[in-house]
Amino acid sequence: MSDPAAPAPGGLWRLWGMTAAEARAWAASIGLPAFRGEQILQGLHRPGVATAADIKGLGPELAARLGALGPVLPGTEVTRQESRDGTVKSLLRLHDGRQVECVSIPTAVRHTICVSSQVGCAVGCTFCASGLNGVERDLDAAEIVYQIAWHHQRRPVTNIVFMGSGEPLFNYDQVLRAIRALGDEHGLGLGRRRITVSTSGVPKRIRQLADDEPQVTLAFSIHAADNETRSRIVPLNRRWPLDEVLEAMADYSTKVGRRMTLEYVLLAEANMTPGHAERLAAVARRFGAHINLIPYNPVMETPHQRPTTAQVKAFAERVEALGGHLTVRGQRGADIDAACGQLKRRAETPAGEGGGGKGDIPVDIGTPAG
Ligand code: SAH
Ligand code: SF4
Repeated sequence: MSDPAAPAPGGLWRLWGMTAAEARAWAASIGLPAFRGEQILQGLHRPGVATAADIKGLGPELAARLGALGPVLPGTEVTRQESRDGTVKSLLRLHDGRQVECVSIPTAVRHTICVSSQVGCAVGCTFCASGLNGVERDLDAAEIVYQIAWHHQRRPVTNIVFMGSGEPLFNYDQVLRAIRALGDEHGLGLGRRRITVSTSGVPKRIRQLADDEPQVTLAFSIHAADNETRSRIVPLNRRWPLDEVLEAMADYSTKVGRRMTLEYVLLAEANMTPGHAERLAAVARRFGAHINLIPYNPVMETPHQRPTTAQVKAFAERVEALGGHLTVRGQRGADIDAACGQLKRRAETPAGEGGGGKGDIPVDIGTPAG
Protein backbone atom coordinates (compact mmCIF):
# COMPACT_ATOMS: atom_id res chain seq x y z
CA MET A 1 0.00 0.00 0.00
CA SER A 2 1.24 3.51 -0.72
CA ASP A 3 2.18 5.94 2.02
CA PRO A 4 -1.07 7.19 3.62
CA ALA A 5 0.47 10.66 3.95
CA ALA A 6 1.31 10.91 0.25
CA PRO A 7 -0.63 13.71 -1.47
CA ALA A 8 -3.01 12.85 -4.27
CA PRO A 9 -1.32 13.36 -7.59
CA GLY A 10 -2.05 16.96 -8.53
CA GLY A 11 -4.34 17.64 -5.58
CA LEU A 12 -7.90 16.95 -4.54
CA TRP A 13 -9.32 18.85 -7.50
CA ARG A 14 -8.54 15.94 -9.79
CA LEU A 15 -11.42 14.04 -8.20
CA TRP A 16 -13.83 16.07 -10.34
CA GLY A 17 -12.66 14.06 -13.34
CA MET A 18 -13.20 10.69 -11.66
CA THR A 19 -15.98 8.15 -11.73
CA ALA A 20 -17.06 6.63 -8.40
CA ALA A 21 -14.90 3.58 -9.14
CA GLU A 22 -11.85 5.76 -9.76
CA ALA A 23 -12.55 7.78 -6.62
CA ARG A 24 -12.69 4.58 -4.58
CA ALA A 25 -9.35 3.49 -5.99
CA TRP A 26 -7.92 6.94 -5.29
CA ALA A 27 -9.08 6.78 -1.65
CA ALA A 28 -7.52 3.36 -1.24
CA SER A 29 -4.28 4.63 -2.76
CA ILE A 30 -3.91 7.18 0.02
CA GLY A 31 -4.85 4.71 2.73
CA LEU A 32 -8.49 5.64 3.22
CA PRO A 33 -11.38 3.19 3.15
CA ALA A 34 -12.63 3.05 -0.46
CA PHE A 35 -16.10 4.36 0.43
CA ARG A 36 -14.50 7.68 1.39
CA GLY A 37 -13.60 8.27 -2.24
CA GLU A 38 -17.20 8.03 -3.29
CA GLN A 39 -18.32 10.18 -0.36
CA ILE A 40 -15.81 12.92 -1.17
CA LEU A 41 -16.73 12.88 -4.85
CA GLN A 42 -20.39 13.27 -4.01
CA GLY A 43 -19.64 15.95 -1.42
CA LEU A 44 -17.62 18.01 -3.90
CA HIS A 45 -20.64 18.45 -6.15
CA ARG A 46 -22.72 20.23 -3.50
CA PRO A 47 -23.10 23.95 -4.18
CA GLY A 48 -20.86 26.20 -2.13
CA VAL A 49 -18.03 23.74 -1.52
CA ALA A 50 -14.75 25.67 -1.69
CA THR A 51 -12.48 23.88 0.80
CA ALA A 52 -12.12 20.36 2.18
CA ALA A 53 -13.83 21.55 5.38
CA ASP A 54 -16.98 22.24 3.35
CA ILE A 55 -17.29 18.60 2.26
CA LYS A 56 -20.07 16.97 4.27
CA GLY A 57 -19.52 14.12 6.70
CA LEU A 58 -15.73 14.00 6.81
CA GLY A 59 -15.04 15.07 10.37
CA PRO A 60 -12.38 17.65 11.26
CA GLU A 61 -9.41 15.29 11.20
CA LEU A 62 -10.03 13.91 7.74
CA ALA A 63 -11.02 17.36 6.44
CA ALA A 64 -7.69 18.75 7.65
CA ARG A 65 -5.77 15.90 6.09
CA LEU A 66 -7.55 16.32 2.76
CA GLY A 67 -7.15 20.09 2.98
CA ALA A 68 -3.39 19.58 2.94
CA LEU A 69 -3.67 17.88 -0.45
CA GLY A 70 -4.29 21.20 -2.18
CA PRO A 71 -7.26 23.07 -3.63
CA VAL A 72 -10.56 21.24 -4.04
CA LEU A 73 -11.75 23.22 -7.05
CA PRO A 74 -10.13 22.86 -10.50
CA GLY A 75 -10.69 26.54 -11.21
CA THR A 76 -12.09 29.83 -9.99
CA GLU A 77 -14.13 32.29 -12.01
CA VAL A 78 -12.17 35.43 -12.81
CA THR A 79 -14.47 37.14 -15.29
CA ARG A 80 -18.05 36.69 -16.37
CA GLN A 81 -20.15 38.26 -19.05
CA GLU A 82 -23.90 38.04 -19.16
CA SER A 83 -25.84 38.58 -22.34
CA ARG A 84 -29.27 40.13 -22.57
CA ASP A 85 -30.49 36.78 -23.92
CA GLY A 86 -29.36 34.93 -20.79
CA THR A 87 -26.11 33.51 -22.20
CA VAL A 88 -23.39 33.56 -19.54
CA LYS A 89 -19.76 33.26 -20.35
CA SER A 90 -17.29 32.48 -17.57
CA LEU A 91 -13.51 32.63 -17.63
CA LEU A 92 -12.03 30.16 -15.15
CA ARG A 93 -8.49 30.42 -13.82
CA LEU A 94 -6.87 27.00 -13.43
CA HIS A 95 -4.34 25.81 -10.84
CA ASP A 96 -1.37 26.86 -13.01
CA GLY A 97 -2.78 30.30 -13.75
CA ARG A 98 -3.94 29.42 -17.26
CA GLN A 99 -7.45 30.46 -18.16
CA VAL A 100 -10.26 28.70 -19.94
CA GLU A 101 -13.76 29.66 -21.02
CA CYS A 102 -17.09 27.97 -20.69
CA VAL A 103 -20.43 29.30 -21.86
CA SER A 104 -23.91 28.64 -20.51
CA ILE A 105 -26.72 28.90 -23.05
CA PRO A 106 -30.16 28.64 -21.49
CA THR A 107 -33.37 28.24 -23.46
CA ALA A 108 -36.89 27.55 -22.20
CA VAL A 109 -36.33 23.81 -22.15
CA ARG A 110 -32.58 23.33 -22.26
CA HIS A 111 -29.43 24.45 -20.56
CA THR A 112 -26.47 23.82 -22.84
CA ILE A 113 -22.85 24.29 -21.84
CA CYS A 114 -20.21 25.00 -24.45
CA VAL A 115 -17.08 23.46 -23.01
CA SER A 116 -13.35 23.75 -23.82
CA SER A 117 -11.13 20.69 -24.14
CA GLN A 118 -7.73 22.42 -24.35
CA VAL A 119 -6.23 25.80 -23.51
CA GLY A 120 -5.88 27.25 -27.01
CA CYS A 121 -5.83 24.99 -30.06
CA ALA A 122 -3.11 23.55 -32.28
CA VAL A 123 -5.24 23.30 -35.41
CA GLY A 124 -5.18 27.01 -36.21
CA CYS A 125 -8.24 27.42 -38.42
CA THR A 126 -7.88 30.83 -40.06
CA PHE A 127 -11.20 32.14 -38.72
CA CYS A 128 -10.99 30.97 -35.10
CA ALA A 129 -9.88 32.94 -32.04
CA SER A 130 -8.95 29.80 -30.09
CA GLY A 131 -6.18 28.82 -32.47
CA LEU A 132 -4.50 32.20 -32.83
CA ASN A 133 -1.70 31.41 -30.37
CA GLY A 134 -1.52 27.64 -30.77
CA VAL A 135 -2.20 25.19 -27.95
CA GLU A 136 -1.01 25.95 -24.42
CA ARG A 137 -1.92 22.63 -22.87
CA ASP A 138 -4.49 19.85 -22.63
CA LEU A 139 -7.15 20.09 -19.98
CA ASP A 140 -7.45 17.40 -17.34
CA ALA A 141 -10.81 15.59 -17.20
CA ALA A 142 -11.47 17.38 -13.89
CA GLU A 143 -11.03 20.77 -15.54
CA ILE A 144 -13.48 19.78 -18.27
CA VAL A 145 -16.10 18.45 -15.85
CA TYR A 146 -15.80 21.50 -13.64
CA GLN A 147 -16.70 23.88 -16.48
CA ILE A 148 -20.06 22.14 -16.58
CA ALA A 149 -20.43 21.70 -12.82
CA TRP A 150 -19.77 25.42 -12.35
CA HIS A 151 -22.84 26.35 -14.38
CA HIS A 152 -24.84 23.32 -13.21
CA GLN A 153 -24.82 24.68 -9.67
CA ARG A 154 -26.87 27.64 -10.88
CA ARG A 155 -29.24 25.76 -13.18
CA PRO A 156 -29.27 22.02 -14.00
CA VAL A 157 -27.42 21.33 -17.24
CA THR A 158 -29.22 19.32 -19.91
CA ASN A 159 -26.74 19.34 -22.84
CA ILE A 160 -23.02 19.68 -23.44
CA VAL A 161 -21.24 20.67 -26.64
CA PHE A 162 -17.45 20.39 -26.98
CA MET A 163 -17.32 23.56 -29.04
CA GLY A 164 -15.18 25.78 -26.87
CA SER A 165 -11.44 26.09 -27.35
CA GLY A 166 -9.39 23.08 -28.37
CA GLU A 167 -9.68 20.04 -30.56
CA PRO A 168 -11.33 17.40 -28.36
CA LEU A 169 -9.94 14.50 -30.35
CA PHE A 170 -6.40 15.79 -29.72
CA ASN A 171 -7.07 15.40 -26.00
CA TYR A 172 -8.93 12.16 -26.46
CA ASP A 173 -8.17 10.38 -23.19
CA GLN A 174 -9.15 13.26 -20.92
CA VAL A 175 -12.26 14.05 -22.98
CA LEU A 176 -13.32 10.42 -22.68
CA ARG A 177 -12.63 10.39 -18.94
CA ALA A 178 -14.68 13.59 -18.59
CA ILE A 179 -17.60 12.08 -20.53
CA ARG A 180 -17.53 9.05 -18.23
CA ALA A 181 -17.27 11.12 -15.07
CA LEU A 182 -20.17 13.29 -16.25
CA GLY A 183 -22.30 10.20 -16.73
CA ASP A 184 -21.53 8.87 -13.27
CA GLU A 185 -24.39 8.85 -10.78
CA HIS A 186 -22.14 10.43 -8.14
CA GLY A 187 -21.31 13.28 -10.48
CA LEU A 188 -23.83 15.06 -12.67
CA GLY A 189 -25.43 11.91 -14.09
CA LEU A 190 -25.49 13.35 -17.61
CA GLY A 191 -26.19 10.79 -20.31
CA ARG A 192 -23.96 10.35 -23.35
CA ARG A 193 -26.84 11.21 -25.65
CA ARG A 194 -26.81 14.74 -24.33
CA ILE A 195 -23.18 15.26 -25.29
CA THR A 196 -21.93 16.50 -28.68
CA VAL A 197 -18.25 16.30 -29.56
CA SER A 198 -17.23 18.57 -32.41
CA THR A 199 -14.06 17.80 -34.38
CA SER A 200 -12.05 19.35 -37.17
CA GLY A 201 -11.37 15.80 -38.36
CA VAL A 202 -9.03 13.18 -36.84
CA PRO A 203 -9.93 9.89 -38.60
CA LYS A 204 -8.27 7.45 -36.21
CA ARG A 205 -9.94 8.99 -33.16
CA ILE A 206 -13.31 9.20 -34.90
CA ARG A 207 -13.16 5.44 -35.38
CA GLN A 208 -11.97 4.91 -31.83
CA LEU A 209 -14.85 6.96 -30.43
CA ALA A 210 -17.32 4.68 -32.19
CA ASP A 211 -15.88 1.80 -30.17
CA ASP A 212 -15.43 3.63 -26.89
CA GLU A 213 -18.51 5.88 -26.61
CA PRO A 214 -20.94 5.19 -29.45
CA GLN A 215 -23.80 7.11 -27.84
CA VAL A 216 -22.09 10.49 -28.01
CA THR A 217 -23.10 12.74 -30.91
CA LEU A 218 -20.15 13.51 -33.16
CA ALA A 219 -20.13 16.57 -35.43
CA PHE A 220 -17.58 17.15 -38.18
CA SER A 221 -16.51 20.77 -38.80
CA ILE A 222 -16.29 20.52 -42.57
CA HIS A 223 -16.51 24.24 -43.54
CA ALA A 224 -15.77 23.45 -47.21
CA ALA A 225 -16.54 20.36 -49.27
CA ASP A 226 -13.48 20.58 -51.52
CA ASN A 227 -9.88 20.05 -50.44
CA GLU A 228 -8.57 23.24 -51.98
CA THR A 229 -10.84 25.56 -50.00
CA ARG A 230 -10.75 23.46 -46.86
CA SER A 231 -6.95 23.24 -46.73
CA ARG A 232 -6.87 27.02 -46.87
CA ILE A 233 -9.10 27.55 -43.83
CA VAL A 234 -8.62 24.33 -41.80
CA PRO A 235 -4.88 23.49 -41.91
CA LEU A 236 -5.53 19.98 -40.56
CA ASN A 237 -7.05 19.16 -43.95
CA ARG A 238 -3.56 18.95 -45.44
CA ARG A 239 -2.82 16.09 -43.07
CA TRP A 240 -6.17 14.33 -43.28
CA PRO A 241 -8.00 15.35 -46.44
CA LEU A 242 -11.75 15.30 -46.79
CA ASP A 243 -12.25 11.78 -48.10
CA GLU A 244 -10.30 10.23 -45.26
CA VAL A 245 -12.32 12.08 -42.62
CA LEU A 246 -15.64 11.54 -44.37
CA GLU A 247 -14.96 7.81 -44.62
CA ALA A 248 -14.24 7.67 -40.90
CA MET A 249 -17.39 9.71 -40.22
CA ALA A 250 -19.42 7.36 -42.46
CA ASP A 251 -18.07 4.35 -40.56
CA TYR A 252 -18.99 6.11 -37.32
CA SER A 253 -22.53 6.76 -38.54
CA THR A 254 -23.00 3.17 -39.68
CA LYS A 255 -21.63 1.75 -36.47
CA VAL A 256 -23.64 3.96 -34.12
CA GLY A 257 -26.76 4.05 -36.32
CA ARG A 258 -27.01 7.85 -36.37
CA ARG A 259 -27.05 10.43 -39.10
CA MET A 260 -23.80 12.26 -39.85
CA THR A 261 -23.66 15.89 -38.67
CA LEU A 262 -21.65 18.48 -40.58
CA GLU A 263 -20.87 21.96 -39.30
CA TYR A 264 -20.24 24.71 -41.81
CA VAL A 265 -19.14 28.16 -40.66
CA LEU A 266 -20.29 30.69 -43.26
CA LEU A 267 -17.36 32.96 -44.17
CA ALA A 268 -18.58 35.61 -46.59
CA GLU A 269 -15.47 35.74 -48.75
CA ALA A 270 -14.15 32.18 -48.41
CA ASN A 271 -16.71 29.37 -48.71
CA MET A 272 -20.03 30.73 -49.98
CA THR A 273 -19.94 30.68 -53.78
CA PRO A 274 -22.60 28.71 -55.70
CA GLY A 275 -19.87 26.12 -56.32
CA HIS A 276 -19.27 25.73 -52.57
CA ALA A 277 -23.01 25.25 -52.04
CA GLU A 278 -23.17 22.61 -54.77
CA ARG A 279 -20.22 20.66 -53.41
CA LEU A 280 -21.62 20.79 -49.87
CA ALA A 281 -25.02 19.56 -51.05
CA ALA A 282 -23.35 16.73 -52.97
CA VAL A 283 -21.40 15.55 -49.91
CA ALA A 284 -24.47 15.81 -47.67
CA ARG A 285 -26.52 13.78 -50.14
CA ARG A 286 -23.82 11.18 -50.61
CA PHE A 287 -23.57 10.53 -46.87
CA GLY A 288 -27.16 11.33 -45.84
CA ALA A 289 -25.75 14.02 -43.53
CA HIS A 290 -27.44 16.89 -41.75
CA ILE A 291 -25.77 20.29 -42.11
CA ASN A 292 -25.58 23.04 -39.49
CA LEU A 293 -24.86 26.39 -41.10
CA ILE A 294 -23.21 28.81 -38.67
CA PRO A 295 -22.95 32.45 -39.81
CA TYR A 296 -19.45 33.59 -38.87
CA ASN A 297 -18.98 35.75 -35.82
CA PRO A 298 -16.05 37.99 -36.80
CA VAL A 299 -12.73 37.83 -34.98
CA MET A 300 -10.73 41.00 -35.43
CA GLU A 301 -7.35 39.37 -36.06
CA THR A 302 -8.66 37.29 -38.97
CA PRO A 303 -9.39 38.29 -42.57
CA HIS A 304 -12.84 36.71 -42.54
CA GLN A 305 -16.18 38.42 -42.77
CA ARG A 306 -19.64 37.68 -41.54
CA PRO A 307 -22.13 37.15 -44.37
CA THR A 308 -25.30 39.24 -44.61
CA THR A 309 -28.66 37.67 -43.85
CA ALA A 310 -29.44 37.69 -47.57
CA GLN A 311 -26.19 35.86 -48.37
CA VAL A 312 -26.93 33.24 -45.70
CA LYS A 313 -30.44 32.75 -47.07
CA ALA A 314 -29.25 32.42 -50.67
CA PHE A 315 -26.58 29.88 -49.71
CA ALA A 316 -28.99 27.85 -47.58
CA GLU A 317 -31.63 27.84 -50.32
CA ARG A 318 -29.14 26.68 -52.92
CA VAL A 319 -27.95 23.80 -50.73
CA GLU A 320 -31.52 22.81 -49.94
CA ALA A 321 -32.61 22.99 -53.57
CA LEU A 322 -29.86 20.47 -54.31
CA GLY A 323 -31.17 18.09 -51.67
CA GLY A 324 -29.03 19.04 -48.65
CA HIS A 325 -30.86 18.95 -45.28
CA LEU A 326 -29.82 21.82 -43.06
CA THR A 327 -30.41 24.07 -40.09
CA VAL A 328 -29.22 27.68 -39.85
CA ARG A 329 -28.01 28.24 -36.32
CA GLY A 330 -29.24 31.19 -34.33
CA GLN A 331 -26.95 33.66 -32.68
CA ARG A 332 -26.65 33.73 -28.93
CA GLY A 333 -24.73 36.09 -26.72
CA ALA A 334 -23.74 38.41 -29.56
CA ASP A 335 -23.45 41.33 -27.17
CA ILE A 336 -20.89 39.63 -24.89
CA ASP A 337 -18.29 38.16 -27.30
CA ALA A 338 -19.85 34.80 -26.46
CA ALA A 339 -18.38 32.22 -27.12
CA CYS A 340 -15.23 30.42 -26.46
CA GLY A 341 -11.88 31.92 -27.39
CA GLN A 342 -12.93 35.50 -27.01
CA LEU A 343 -13.39 36.36 -23.37
CA LYS A 344 -9.99 34.86 -22.69
CA ARG A 345 -8.48 36.84 -25.52
CA ARG A 346 -10.08 40.03 -24.32
CA ALA A 347 -8.93 39.44 -20.76
CA GLU A 348 -5.37 38.65 -21.80
CA THR A 349 -4.78 41.25 -24.51
CA PRO A 350 -4.61 45.03 -24.25
CA ALA A 351 -7.89 46.92 -24.41
CA GLY A 352 -9.45 47.14 -27.83
CA GLU A 353 -7.84 44.01 -29.23
CA GLY A 354 -9.46 40.64 -29.70
CA GLY A 355 -13.11 41.27 -30.37
CA GLY A 356 -15.58 38.89 -31.98
CA GLY A 357 -15.70 35.17 -31.39
CA LYS A 358 -17.87 32.14 -31.79
CA GLY A 359 -21.02 34.09 -31.15
CA ASP A 360 -23.05 31.51 -32.98
CA ILE A 361 -22.76 28.53 -30.75
CA PRO A 362 -24.32 25.76 -32.78
CA VAL A 363 -26.76 24.51 -30.21
CA ASP A 364 -30.28 23.53 -30.97
CA ILE A 365 -31.80 26.96 -30.96
CA GLY A 366 -31.82 27.80 -34.65
CA THR A 367 -34.69 27.91 -37.04
CA PRO A 368 -34.73 25.69 -40.11
CA ALA A 369 -33.79 27.63 -43.23
CA GLY A 370 -36.21 28.25 -46.07
N1 SAH B 1 -12.06 22.15 -32.50
C1 SAH B 1 -13.34 21.60 -32.66
C2 SAH B 1 -14.32 22.02 -31.58
C3 SAH B 1 -14.24 23.45 -31.14
S1 SAH B 1 -14.66 24.64 -32.37
C4 SAH B 1 -13.90 21.93 -34.06
O1 SAH B 1 -13.30 22.72 -34.76
O2 SAH B 1 -14.91 21.35 -34.42
C5 SAH B 1 -16.42 24.42 -32.45
C6 SAH B 1 -17.10 25.05 -33.63
O3 SAH B 1 -17.08 26.48 -33.55
C7 SAH B 1 -16.44 24.69 -34.96
O4 SAH B 1 -17.37 24.22 -35.89
C8 SAH B 1 -15.83 26.00 -35.36
O5 SAH B 1 -15.67 26.08 -36.71
C9 SAH B 1 -16.80 27.01 -34.81
N2 SAH B 1 -16.24 28.38 -34.75
C10 SAH B 1 -14.99 28.73 -34.42
N3 SAH B 1 -14.83 30.07 -34.46
C11 SAH B 1 -16.01 30.59 -34.83
C12 SAH B 1 -16.48 31.92 -35.06
N4 SAH B 1 -15.71 32.97 -34.89
N5 SAH B 1 -17.78 32.09 -35.46
C13 SAH B 1 -18.59 31.01 -35.61
N6 SAH B 1 -18.20 29.73 -35.40
C14 SAH B 1 -16.92 29.51 -35.02
FE1 SF4 C 1 -9.27 24.62 -33.15
FE2 SF4 C 1 -11.85 24.16 -33.68
FE3 SF4 C 1 -10.87 26.67 -33.56
FE4 SF4 C 1 -10.20 25.10 -35.61
S1 SF4 C 1 -12.27 25.83 -35.10
S2 SF4 C 1 -8.79 26.40 -34.40
S3 SF4 C 1 -10.08 23.12 -34.60
S4 SF4 C 1 -11.01 25.24 -31.89
